Amino acid sequence: MDSVLEISDSCVGCGQCARVCIRRHLIIGDDKKARETESDYSCFRCGHCISVCPKGAIAFRDGSGKETKITGSPVSPEDLAELFRERRSRRWFDRNCTREELEALFSAVRYSPTAENSQAIQFAVVDGRFSEFMILLADILRPRAGDHPRIRQFADYVDRGQKEKNNPFTWEGRQIIIIFSRLPADALICACQLDLMACSMGLGGFHSRWMLLAAETDPDRFMSFFPGIGKDLKANAVFVTGHPSVKFRTTVPRKEKEVFWMRRRNLRITPC
Ligand code: SF4
Ligand code: SF4
Repeated sequence: MDSVLEISDSCVGCGQCARVCIRRHLIIGDDKKARETESDYSCFRCGHCISVCPKGAIAFRDGSGKETKITGSPVSPEDLAELFRERRSRRWFDRNCTREELEALFSAVRYSPTAENSQAIQFAVVDGRFSEFMILLADILRPRAGDHPRIRQFADYVDRGQKEKNNPFTWEGRQIIIIFSRLPADALICACQLDLMACSMGLGGFHSRWMLLAAETDPDRFMSFFPGIGKDLKANAVFVTGHPSVKFRTTVPRKEKEVFWMRRRNLRITPC
């Protein structure tokens, strides 16, 4: 077995690392020290064991995974719920985000969860070659113009030279973040966190399905625009962003949620 972890002599055998390892990769030996074991399911470097160790006795052998200390819960539930309530899709902008603002977004969403801790996510920012990208999308989607009026509207907009202020796919947005991942859920969770982070920074945007339709329709042509992106990744989320120019004063209208509490034979719907 290739050893992934280094466990120092300061281990006191408390067993917390073994308890949180969902791969059963750690056991406490007769010497009352943690050690790696030949498990059916290999270590996937989630770092839970490192994070719970009260003695700092466990680390990745290659020196990675030395993350900063956490403080508990830095945001109150009330503040977080308020952020959810105030978040709204924004399509009207007076300028693009700066490089520093985008870097702050990406730095925050580094921590979004991914299946099996694959961290198989990459981003592309389309702003400098925006018009060129629109032409590519229109070329891919033009044969599908009959599927939906928005596609036709977009193809016509590109054919007229992209002169109007409202782009039918991006409205006033001229900056697009594309999230590539192995699994769709990884990109969607990341896009959601990115959206809320943008909201907390006074930025805004909206999620676009139309550009993803182009990625589905002709993946090879779509991906030819992004030669640096890993071959095993696909575009699974698109967020159009910028500095919002419209101030909204109320929350988004929402229906009551229907929750099925699966406790009794007779199901009841409880609005909340
Ligand atoms: S959590 Fe740390 S101290 Fe406790 S058994 Fe694991 S390595 Fe040893
Ligand atoms: S990094 Fe995760 S999977 Fe690997 S030994 Fe630690 S807890 Fe288990």
